[in-house]
Order: sequence, then C-alpha cells, then structure tokens
Amino acid sequence: MKIIFLGAPGAGKGTQAEIAAETFNIPAISTGAIIREAIKTGTEMGTKAKEFTSKGALVPDEVVIGIIKERLTKDDCANGFILDGFPRTVPQAEALDAMGVTIDKVVNIEVPDEKIVTRMSGRRACPACGATFHTEYKPSKTGETCDKCGAALTIREDDKPEVVLDRLATYHEVTEPLKDYYEKTGKLVTVIGQEEVADTTALTLAALK
Ligand code: AMP
Repeated sequence: MKIIFLGAPGAGKGTQAEIAAETFNIPAISTGAIIREAIKTGTEMGTKAKEFTSKGALVPDEVVIGIIKERLTKDDCANGFILDGFPRTVPQAEALDAMGVTIDKVVNIEVPDEKIVTRMSGRRACPACGATFHTEYKPSKTGETCDKCGAALTIREDDKPEVVLDRLATYHEVTEPLKDYYEKTGKLVTVIGQEEVADTTALTLAALK
C-alpha cells in the first residue's frame, strides 16, 4: 500500500498516518519530522529549513523533494509506505509522479479552520525523541513529560497561534489544490475529522479498505 495523507496542519493527519502505518505494517514518512530532526542536529539542510518553518512557511520544493527521493530508496519502503505531509504543493505531487511512484489512496482529512486553531493550542512535542501528544486528545501520562523518554514536553515553535494562522493560509493557497489533483486520478477519499480520535481512525481505516 502506498498512501498519502492530506489535510490542513492540525487536522490530525500525523496521528492517523501513524495508526495506519502500524495497521498495515509499513513506515509513516513525515517530511516535517525529518526536517525537525535536521534542525535539531544542525545540518546544512536544517539550518536553511528553519528560516521557513519558524515563519509557518513551506520549505522550498527542491529541498523536500530531495528528502523524499532519498527516503523512498530505504529498504523499509519495499512493501509500501505512508506519506504524511508530502506532497504539499502541486510541483511536489508532479515530482512524485515523475519518480514513478504509483499511489493507491490519498486520504484527505477535513477539519474546519476554527477547530484547528483551538486544537493546535493543545499540541505538545517531545524535544528529545520527537513523540507527540495532545493535552486533550492524546495526553501524556504525567501531562508534562514524555511517556517514551521522560523529557519535558514543549510547544512546537510553529504551533504558536500566530504561526498557525500563517500555516493555514499557506495550506489553503498551495496545498488544498492537491485535492483536485488527486480527485482527477480517482484516488482521493475524504474523511471528516471527528471530535474523538478513535472515531476518525475508524473512518480512515474504513476508507482504506
Ligand atoms: P508538519 O510537521 O508536517 O506540519 O511540518 C512542519 C513544517 O515543515 C511545515 O510547516 C513546513 O515548514 C515544513 N514541511 C513539512 N513538509 C513539507 C513539504 N512537503 N513541503 C514544504 N514544507 C514542508
């Protein structure tokens, strides 16, 4: 299975991508996570990417296309993969086609902007291992530290309310046209994000059958 998860930042595509990855036993590849790791370790790509991510802007196409090209050559992708957060622009989708990748399904998770802004304020991330939590929907056991490694949880720089509004504007302008792009291929399935994560998961897994 080769699956793309589409959706506005904060629509819950990352969580659903991880659950689907476990269900189908294939890797979930998050360009956002790869970029955050590069920023943390201070690589050249990370330093360049930070200029964009900190403002809520997208990293240039050629950078993320390069990341995906390299990642898809890894052995764990042999039986399929889930793309979480890529493609995010039409040129990125075209680049994926040009790589000869045949996608089985594109899951588009829809959540209204107003709900997203409220939801994003509850997101917490582990700066040490990258695990993600949500104060309401996926709380860590203590509320303040990571269940996996014990580090103190933080709010991602780009989850701050003012940056979220910029990220949503970017989503509507350059990412949302991908719905049309994949609708035309007959691969698009839309899932309406529910209040309860488990309900969204049930709809997502049903859409992937
Ligand atoms: P995410 O964790 O998927 O929300 O990604 C965090 C940030 O990484 C985004 O706000 C972008 O700045 C950058 N990013 C992730 N994926 C892409 C992509 N496919 N194209 C451009 N920028 C990306």
